[in-house]
Amino acid sequence: MIKGLIFDLDGVLVSTETNHYVAWKLIADELKIPFTEKENEKLKGLSRADSLSALLDLGKRSISHLKFKTILDYKNKIYLKSIEKINQSNLLPGVLEFIKEKHEKNHLLAVGSSSRNAHFILKKTKIDHFFTCVIDGNMVKKPKPDPEVFINASSGLGLPRSECLVFEDAESGVIAAKKGGFHVIGVGNLKIKDSCDYFIKNMGEFDLSSYEESI
Ligand SMILES: [Mg+2]
Repeated sequence: MIKGLIFDLDGVLVSTETNHYVAWKLIADELKIPFTEKENEKLKGLSRADSLSALLDLGKRSISHLKFKTILDYKNKIYLKSIEKINQSNLLPGVLEFIKEKHEKNHLLAVGSSSRNAHFILKKTKIDHFFTCVIDGNMVKKPKPDPEVFINASSGLGLPRSECLVFEDAESGVIAAKKGGFHVIGVGNLKIKDSCDYFIKNMGEFDLSSYEESI
């Protein structure tokens, strides 16, 4: 019996992928590292620091620890500025209806995200009150693909992992959920179709009762 639903944020509940891309693109251009949406795919689901490391690897560049930290802060500044105007219309298709319904039916909802801005985005999109537990990038020692974020989310809900479902759109998140022993539903990103337990195009497509019958 599934009692807890744990959602990744970016690409599952809300789409701020373009905002991340635009910010990283600006930095890549300044560092003269070729960077397109194709390369950006590799950054999805990674923490901010791991994203910068991946970007530097792409350009075969190394920089000082200090410059690394400065760029991380700069990237976040650009990103935060760009998401200032985010609102409920930025939620992905079917999300609001799905979480409202599950909340009413007493399922416990959590967010497990690498984003350090998860609380801010949940407030802006006015869905924060649906979640019993929000674990963001500031609250874990090891980012995805380590399972810590999802393990902490299930503990926050007070549920065993076997009673939780994880919704993810990124490879690193699917690996994290699997390593943690969770059922994982892939959302939207066709690249993870074969690595998750079940795949949907968006939250509006998901029928929890039929999924429960199938496991
Ligand atoms: Mg994601």
